[in-house]
This record gives sequence, C-alpha cells and structure tokens, in this order.
Amino acid sequence: MQEEVVKSEKMRLVSDMAASVAHEIRNPLTAVRGFIHLLGSPGIQPEKKEFYKNICFSELDRAEHIIADYLSLARTDPELLEAIDVNVEVEYLSNILLTYANFNNVHLSVQLSKGEAPVTMGDRYKFRQALINIGKNAIEAMPNGGTLELVTECRNDTATVIIRDTGSGMSADQLKRLGTPYYSTKEKGTGLGTMISFSIIKKMHGKIDVRSEVGKGTRFMLDFPQHKVVSVI
Ligand code: ADP
Ligand code: MG
Repeated sequence: MQEEVVKSEKMRLVSDMAASVAHEIRNPLTAVRGFIHLLGSPGIQPEKKEFYKNICFSELDRAEHIIADYLSLARTDPELLEAIDVNVEVEYLSNILLTYANFNNVHLSVQLSKGEAPVTMGDRYKFRQALINIGKNAIEAMPNGGTLELVTECRNDTATVIIRDTGSGMSADQLKRLGTPYYSTKEKGTGLGTMISFSIIKKMHGKIDVRSEVGKGTRFMLDFPQHKVVSVI
C-alpha cells in the first residue's frame, strides 16, 4: 500500500517535471538563438566570435543537463555537490541576460563582492537555472526599460546574491502567490520558473527574501551558507 502511494507521488512529480522541462529547455534555446544571430553580424571581431560561440556551447550543455535531470528523476542518485564560486556564476548570468536586457531597453549593472569570494555548495547547473529564472522575470517586469542590478556579497557566514529591478513590482497578494505552481500574470507564462528556482535554492539551504513595491520594483535577496575552505597548514 505504502509503495503504491510513493509510486503515484512519483508519477505526479514526473508529469509536473515534464511541463517544467519544456519550460526550462526554452531558456537555453532562446539564448543560443540570440547568440547565433549575433555571430551573423557583419564585421564581428574574432574574440567576440569565440566568446559567443563558447556561450552557445555552454547553454547547449545546460539544455542537455536539464534533460539528463529529467531522465534521472526515476533514479535515486545523490545530487551533484560541488563548491560554487558565486561571483563566477553571477558574471555568467549577466552574460546570458545581456542580449535579453538590451532587447528590452534594460540597463544591466553588476557589482561583484571584492575580497573573499562568496562560495556555496550545490549543483552549479541548477544554481544557474535558479538565477536565470529570477533574472528573466526581472527583465520581463520592465517592459518599458529600466535597470537590473546584480550584486554579490560575502559576509562571514553567508554568500549573498541580490537581483533588483525597477519594474512593475508586486502587490502583497501577488507576492504571496509567487513561487506557487502555475501562478503567472503573463499571457504566455507557465508559472513554473519561480517555483523551480525556489525549490533549488531551498535544497541548497538558501534563504529567500523578496521585497516589492507596485510601480517601483522588486528585490530578491538570496542568502546561501558560505562554504569555508579548511586550510591544512
Ligand atoms: P512566468 O514567468 O512564466 O509567469 P514565474 O513562475 O517565473 O512564471 O513567475 C510567476 C509570476 O510572478 C510572474 O507571472 C509575475 O507576475 C510574477 N513575478 C516574478 N518575478 C517578478 C518581478 N521581478 N517583478 C514583478 N513580478 C514578478
Ligand atoms: Mg518566469
């Protein structure tokens, strides 16, 4: 009996995942399409070409990872756990979001913490996915342009990522529904992105604090446990 319950729970999870896979595959595909477009611009410098090409490969790898994740859902392998340099990932995020931001007249501002690097433990690809979903929403909340700020901080025991936009903002009611499955205010929205981001962040023992004001904008503050490297000497 117990086994049956577990089985049907798993089936439900798999079908929810199928919807989210379709959603998540679209992000890397959109990025690759954008960069291929740029690769075709006349007079493009060789270094730029190389740079765009590398992003394309990296995003295709991400798509592959998402598919692999979905296929591995039926298995019980432990998640990949590695030290993640948060500055490196936020820098990567800014590159991924740049074309989308430009397209929407959104100015991108990146401030990475100096000194000790913010480092946390988790699966790098999932972490990227979590940040990309939140960053994309921030840009989509600014249809008339604005500023997207990406900030990292490293305090004693936390590695922090702040994603701030000057967009539409959310009411208290909307804020309450944020992260619940299929909640979307967009015509073509799936309402899965934030739910997936939150579940990845929580798995990494991250804390999520969202402040929002209608007409002014939204700030996501994500606090992850800082990973301390133990020195042998
Ligand atoms: P989707 O983007 O497909 O609508 P999400 O789960 O990513 O689904 O987001 C759910 C909803 O949360 C969005 O439709 C939007 O109304 C709201 N939202 C998320 N991030 C922001 C933001 N930065 N500013 C304003 N609204 C937001
Ligand atoms: Mg979204």
